[in-house]
Amino acid sequence: MKRFWEKVDIRGEDECWLWKASKRAGYGAFKLNGEVVSAHRLAYSLVFGDPANWVCHRCDVRACCNPAHLFDGTRSDNMKDAFDKGRLGHFGGSKRSSFASSATGFKGVYVERGKYVARVWLEGKNVFIGYFEKAEEAADKFDAYVEEKNIGPSNKEIGLR
Ligand SMILES: [Zn+2]
Repeated sequence: MKRFWEKVDIRGEDECWLWKASKRAGYGAFKLNGEVVSAHRLAYSLVFGDPANWVCHRCDVRACCNPAHLFDGTRSDNMKDAFDKGRLGHFGGSKRSSFASSATGFKGVYVERGKYVARVWLEGKNVFIGYFEKAEEAADKFDAYVEEKNIGPSNKEIGLR
């Protein structure tokens, strides 16, 4: 797949890797065995294996082929889980490097700009709940949010709170 990666402007892992060849509707287009496939989808498959359904961009840049910016839309829960566990903690670079919740010990609670922030994955999007002075407070707000939207499990449910 050297031919494929040659068409990608490979940069740092936190940057967008733009597709340099032809595009369709803003998405990179690559010819594979005579068939035109989406470059970002192929980039995802090469790194993570075939996606179950569509491949989405965390960065909202259609031409981006950085595997760290891509996720299977049907497996967003798994990605969220990996993200929470810090396995994808490098994603987003310095600005988001504090995302791993291991820093606070609570699910959905991260440290940003010296404050605690509660965030949740909802329908493939990272939703900001708010900034808080205390991690416990952020965890409670996170729990209230996931309970309201019925998208748990909350910190209470997994015994963290
Ligand atoms: Zn990107």
